[in-house]
Amino acid sequence: MGQKRILRKLNRLLKQVKSYESIMKAYSDEELAAITDKLKKEYCNGESLDKLLPEAFAAICEADERILGMRPYDVQILGGIALHLGYLAEMNTGEGKTLTATMPLYLNALSGESTILVTTNEYLAIRDADEMGPVYEFMGMTVATGVTDKAGEKLSNDRKKDIYNSDIVYTTHGSLGFDYLFNNLVTSADERFLRPFGYAIIDEADSVLLDGAISPLVVSASPRVQSNLYSVADFFVTSLEEGVHYIKEEKKVWLTTDGVRYAESFFRIDNFYSHKHFEINRHVILALKAHALFEKEKDYVVSRDNELFLLDHGSGRKMPGVKLRGGMHQALEVKEGIKPSQENRSVASVTYQNLFKLFDRFGGMSGTIYDAKDELKDTYGTEVVVIPANKPVQRVDLPDIYCKDSTTQVMKAIELTLEKHAVGQPILIVVSNIMETELISQILVNERVPHSVLNANNAFWEADIIKEAGQKGAITVATSMAGRGTDIKLGAGVRELGGLGVVGIGRLGNVRTERQARGRAGRQGDPGFSQFFVSLEDEIVEQTQSKTVEKYVEKGRFISKRRMKKVINCAQSLSEERAMMSRKQAIDYDSVMSKQRDIIYAIRNGLLDGGSLSNRQLLYLARENIERFLNSKKVITKQEINRYVLDHLSYRVLEDLPDITKGKKSKQKIKEKLLLYVQKSIKEQYDSLKDDDLMCDFVRNAALHAIDDAWVEEVDYLQQLSQAVAGRASAQRNPLFEYRNEAYYSFKKMENSICINVMRNVLLSEVRLDQSGKIQMILP
Ligand code: ADP
Repeated sequence: MGQKRILRKLNRLLKQVKSYESIMKAYSDEELAAITDKLKKEYCNGESLDKLLPEAFAAICEADERILGMRPYDVQILGGIALHLGYLAEMNTGEGKTLTATMPLYLNALSGESTILVTTNEYLAIRDADEMGPVYEFMGMTVATGVTDKAGEKLSNDRKKDIYNSDIVYTTHGSLGFDYLFNNLVTSADERFLRPFGYAIIDEADSVLLDGAISPLVVSASPRVQSNLYSVADFFVTSLEEGVHYIKEEKKVWLTTDGVRYAESFFRIDNFYSHKHFEINRHVILALKAHALFEKEKDYVVSRDNELFLLDHGSGRKMPGVKLRGGMHQALEVKEGIKPSQENRSVASVTYQNLFKLFDRFGGMSGTIYDAKDELKDTYGTEVVVIPANKPVQRVDLPDIYCKDSTTQVMKAIELTLEKHAVGQPILIVVSNIMETELISQILVNERVPHSVLNANNAFWEADIIKEAGQKGAITVATSMAGRGTDIKLGAGVRELGGLGVVGIGRLGNVRTERQARGRAGRQGDPGFSQFFVSLEDEIVEQTQSKTVEKYVEKGRFISKRRMKKVINCAQSLSEERAMMSRKQAIDYDSVMSKQRDIIYAIRNGLLDGGSLSNRQLLYLARENIERFLNSKKVITKQEINRYVLDHLSYRVLEDLPDITKGKKSKQKIKEKLLLYVQKSIKEQYDSLKDDDLMCDFVRNAALHAIDDAWVEEVDYLQQLSQAVAGRASAQRNPLFEYRNEAYYSFKKMENSICINVMRNVLLSEVRLDQSGKIQMILP
C-alpha cells in the first residue's frame, strides 16, 4: 500500500479516537479507570481489538494527560495506530515515541496476551517503564521491567514469571532473546516463566531488526571434547600456496579444485566434502581462515603469557573474554603456536528475526527506518509508514564537504566547531569509531576546549552526557551508535544561537546511521544544522576501495571533485550492500535451524505440559529401534546381539541367543525375544515406582533428557556447519544449499538418536523413590 493510502487509513481511525475526547474528559478518575474492565469484557465477548481501538486510545490519551501532564499529539496517535496495525513507524527523534507507545500497549494488553515493549538498552527500558508505568497502573494494569540496572544481577525464574505475567513488560531485545532460550532449557513445567508471545513494539526497530540481525544470540555451556585435528590442519594449510590452492577475496577465502585435490591426498580421503570427513573439512577451513583472513597485531594479539586476545577494530583495545565461535578462536591459537583453549558448546541459539516472528503481531518505531523499507518488507513482510512531524523540521542539513585526505577533513571540521563554539552554539561531533573519538578529543584538548566524550558502552552514564549536550557552549564527541534513542533538549538561550549543530566526520556505513546522527538536532521544530565532512581516507572507503584510495592519497595523484564524490558515496552503497548480503545470509542459515527448533520446542513443551509416552508407544519405538539394528547387517553374531541387549535393553542377558546367519526367520525370532526384554525392563521399572502417574513422570523425564542431549549436539553442529560451509563458496558450490542438505541429514540422524536414547533412558536408568516419594533417577 502506498504511503498516502496508509496515512488515510490511519487518519480515519484518528478521527474516531478524537470523537471520544470530550466524553473521556467528562469522566471522573474512577470512571476513566473503569473503562479497562469494560473493554476487557467486550474483548472476551468477541469484540476485536481493532474495534476497541478508538475508545481505548481515547481513554489512555486522557490518562496520559491526567497522570503525566502530556496529551499525545495527533501525530503521536497516528503513530500509535500504525504500531497497533503492525506497521514500522518512522518518527523522528524527539517526537515522543515513548508516549506514543502507551496507546497500542494498553490496547493490546486488554486482550490478556503478553504485551512487550522492546528497547535497545537497559537504561531506556527502565526509564520508559518508570515514566509511563503510572498511567497503566492508573488504568488498572500491571507493568514490569524485564531487566535490572544492577550489573551482574540475575533474576530468578520465579521473579521472571512475575515480570512476564504483568500486563505490560518493558525490556531489551537481548534480555527477551535470552529469556526465550532459557525458557526452553528448563526441565519441568513450573520452571517456565514466559507466556506465549502476543504483541510487541520494537523501539529503534531498524537497529534491532537489521543491524542486530547478523549475530545470533547464543547460550553456551558444557565443554566440548577437544579436537586433535587443529594442528594437523594448521600444518596442512601452511603448505598451501595462494592463487594455486586457495583464493582470497576481501573477507572470504576458499580452496580451489587443486586445493581440494591436494587436501584429499594429504589426508588420504576420497572426498573432502563428504559427510564422513566433515571434521577434516571444518578444521581445514578454520585453519585457512586463521591464516588468510586474520592478521596478528591488527585483529588479535598474543600476550606474554601466551593468551590470545581479539582486538576491537574501533578502539584497538584488547577484548578480554571475547572469543570467536565455532572453533575459529582455537584455530588462531594453533596458528600462533599456543595451546588451544577450551571450546564450549552452544546449547541454544536464535536470531532476532526469528525471535520476533514468534509474536502474533509486532510493530516497530525508529527515526530512521524508511531507507530500509524494501529489505524490511522482504524479510518481515511489514510495511514502513512515515508519520508526519508534530512541528515542521527546521534543521538545515548542509551539503557534505568532500576532502581528499583525513587531515584536511578533520581540520575543516574542527574549524567549523570552534567557530560555532566561539558564539556558544552547542556542537555534537559524530565520528565513525571509538579510536576517532579519542583523536578528536586530543585535538580539542590541544586547543584547550572543554568537551565530553561519549564512547563507553554505559548507557546510564551516556544519557547524562546527552542531557548536557544541548547546553550553551557544550561540545560532545560521540560515535554514531552512542546516544541512539535519547533526545537532546536545548538549554536556555541556545535556540537564539541557532540550536544544536551536528558535525559529522567520515562517511558512515549506511544512510540510516547518518540520518540518526543528523536527527540529534532539530527536535520538535527546534532550529539546528548538520554537516558532514567526508574524505577518501574514511574507514568505509578504505574497506571497499582500497586500491583507489592508494592511487589518489598515498601516491598523490590528482582527483577531481566529481570523481571524489562518486568514490566516497559509492563506498557507502557498497558497504550497505555488503551488510545487507550478510543479513540475508544470516537469515537463510537461521531459517534452517529455526524449523528444527520449532519442532523440538513443540515436542518439549508437549512433554512439559504433561505429555508422556504410553506403554504402547514405548513398545512401538522399541520395535523400530530393534528392527533398525537387526537390519543394519546381514550377519549378526551372538556377541553383537548380547552387546546390543546390554547397551540398549537390559543389564541382564538371560539366555543365549543364536547368531543371525540366515534369512528373515531367525531375525523374526530374535526380534520377538528382544521385545520380551523390553517388556520385562519396563515392568521392572514400573515395579520400583508402583504407580501409573509416577511411571508417566519417569518416562517423560527420560524422554526430555534424550531430546535435550540430542538437540544440544544438533545446535552445536549447525553452528560449526555454518562456519565450515562458508569456506566452500566457489563456482560449483553453493554454501547455503550444502548447509541445508547437511542440516537435513543431521536432523534425521538426531531423530534416530532420540528414539534410541529415549528407550535407553527408560529401560536402563536406575530409578527409585526417595523418602519423600520423589523420583530419583540415574541415567545410563
Ligand atoms: P523520542 O523517543 O521520539 O526521541 P521521547 O519519547 O524521548 O522522544 O520524548 C521526547 C520528549 O518529548 C520527552 O521529554 C517527552 O516528555 C516530550 N513529549 C513527548 N510527547 C509529548 C506531548 N504530547 N506533550 C508534551 N511533551 C511531550
